[in-house]
Amino acid sequence: MDRNGQTWKILVIDDERDALGFARERLSRSKQPSFDLLSAQSFAAGLARLRDDRYDACLVGHELGPQSGIELIREVEKLGIRVPIVLVIPPESIVPHAAALEVEAMNAGAADCIDAERLEAGLLERSLRYVIERHRAMIALQQSEERLRHEILHDSLTGLPNRTMFLDRLERAMARRGRKPDSLCAVLCIDLDRFKVVNESLGHIVADRLLLAIARRFENCLRVEDTMARFGGDEFAILLDDIRGIQDATRIAERIQQELLRPILLEGEEVFATASIGIAMATPEMIRATDLLRAADTALTRAKGLGKGRYELFAPGMHSQAVQLLRLENDLRRAVEANEFRLMFQPVVALSTGRLLGFEALVRWVHPDRGMVPPNDFLPLAEETGIIVRIGQFVLEEACRRTADWHRRFPLDPKPYVAVNLSAREFGQRGLIPQIQRVLDETGLPPQSLKIEITEGVLQGNAAGIDELLHGMRSLGLGLFIDDFGTGYSSLAALHRYPIDTLKIDRSFVRNMTIEKRGSAIVRTILALAWNLGLEVVAEGVETAEQRMLLSALGCSNAQGYFFSRPLPAEEIEELLLRGGILDGAEDQAA
Ligand code: C2E
Ligand code: MG
Ligand code: MG
Repeated sequence: MDRNGQTWKILVIDDERDALGFARERLSRSKQPSFDLLSAQSFAAGLARLRDDRYDACLVGHELGPQSGIELIREVEKLGIRVPIVLVIPPESIVPHAAALEVEAMNAGAADCIDAERLEAGLLERSLRYVIERHRAMIALQQSEERLRHEILHDSLTGLPNRTMFLDRLERAMARRGRKPDSLCAVLCIDLDRFKVVNESLGHIVADRLLLAIARRFENCLRVEDTMARFGGDEFAILLDDIRGIQDATRIAERIQQELLRPILLEGEEVFATASIGIAMATPEMIRATDLLRAADTALTRAKGLGKGRYELFAPGMHSQAVQLLRLENDLRRAVEANEFRLMFQPVVALSTGRLLGFEALVRWVHPDRGMVPPNDFLPLAEETGIIVRIGQFVLEEACRRTADWHRRFPLDPKPYVAVNLSAREFGQRGLIPQIQRVLDETGLPPQSLKIEITEGVLQGNAAGIDELLHGMRSLGLGLFIDDFGTGYSSLAALHRYPIDTLKIDRSFVRNMTIEKRGSAIVRTILALAWNLGLEVVAEGVETAEQRMLLSALGCSNAQGYFFSRPLPAEEIEELLLRGGILDGAEDQAA
């Protein structure tokens, strides 16, 4: 038994002359340690046993028929079998060059050599103990080295390769490509949208679980030969080696985005994530791995800038586009300081009468050179950079100030409300409720005349935080609208739970209504859902008399769209209010 109470399992390989019979006999009598001895009588039988079973050590005779013990050691090395081998060398009296033999055996990989004449001196036991313990220590060392290597090259949360390992693989793939010109490789850089918000609202532990779940989903989209890495935070990268063309890469990007359409269940909550993806194919000009990675990263920046949940391919010239994006960002910051934003107001009317119910406040950037810039051209970047919060402050103040002023100056019934859009970032900002309260106090607008529009995506963040915010708004007396309803993936349960009062049917459904049958079925379903939950509905993007008629027939009561009025500057809204606030679409269009 060894010190841990185990028995050492030793394989004795000897030829039929049984030169090691003495050694075997001696070991079998030993109690401290005890040996479990097995024998093989030929080179082939010995090798077969070593291959099939595990031994703590192996004792080998010098002569194994036509082959030698040293040849066996070489074969064992070649096969990668890990067992310490002690070679028993005949005395000088029998083999003339015993000393040289010992050197040869050690070079071949023997763990130790023992002179056959000294076997009886108890040296055998000591030798075996020495080689076994050394072997174990070596394996332990190798294992801890492997662990360390693993740690150095992998991300601890997901176990995926990290940036270092990714770059190493990418470097190799690009070198291979140099030798095999028709082998293509591509890199995808992936970044989760709004992850900062998720991280801040859900906390690190839950956010980590989300990352883990997402990483597993990404892996489902890949082939075994692809490498996926996490660079930290919500940044992932994928190396597609040996692909046929760009469509292989875009297909994977699409599959990844598809995978994220299904909600992820975290603490009983359905969480939705979207990812922006940048794709770059290696080109002959790209020499280093970092060249390709940078290209994919540039494409990613563009994908994010264009509004999330999408993928973009790297194109030469994008570097300059990245520079442009940076310029736009600087320009935006300057615009905030210079008060270059203006509000437009789009009337919302009662479908049947055309009577004005309220307005939606829509921001515009009046650029000194570019003129009127629509929100879709600058809001994604403003959201990404956080500049949106400053713009939002202006929008809220201006919308409330104007509307309160109109209430005072125009005797209207009902008093029109103003609806203000809040992005995810604005919604997640600290101190939102006190800020709204302050603006209401300062402008004198009654809280029930202010409506907050958020999209379904905003509801998908931290449930507890959102609950608190929405209820906070509700207790101020504000109205809550869900914008672009039907384009997100909010669960009906969420709608039911939150204190929402109006759904705005996305204009794509209103447009489809007159194009295909299914279009009006969707609108009908949304209307039924709204009625069941006791919610009001506004149809967005009503452009034609036909749409108006159909919506009326389906029982929709409120609408907004070019048919009634485009978004108007404050002065034109005042003219409308002077006329008593009636918008008959047909008249308006004729005018
Ligand atoms: P939204 O909130 O869904 O606003 C409705 C958009 O549809 C507006 O585009 C409006 O001009 C347009 N629209 C209205 N009627 C029609 C129609 O009949 N046909 C068509 N084709 N379009 C119509 P706009 O002003 O370009 O705004 C785009 C989006 O930008 C808004 O979509 C909203 O999500 C965002 N946005 C606008 N202003 C603000 C703001 O002050 N803050 C925030 N956070 N987002 C804003
Ligand atoms: Mg809106
Ligand atoms: Mg909308």
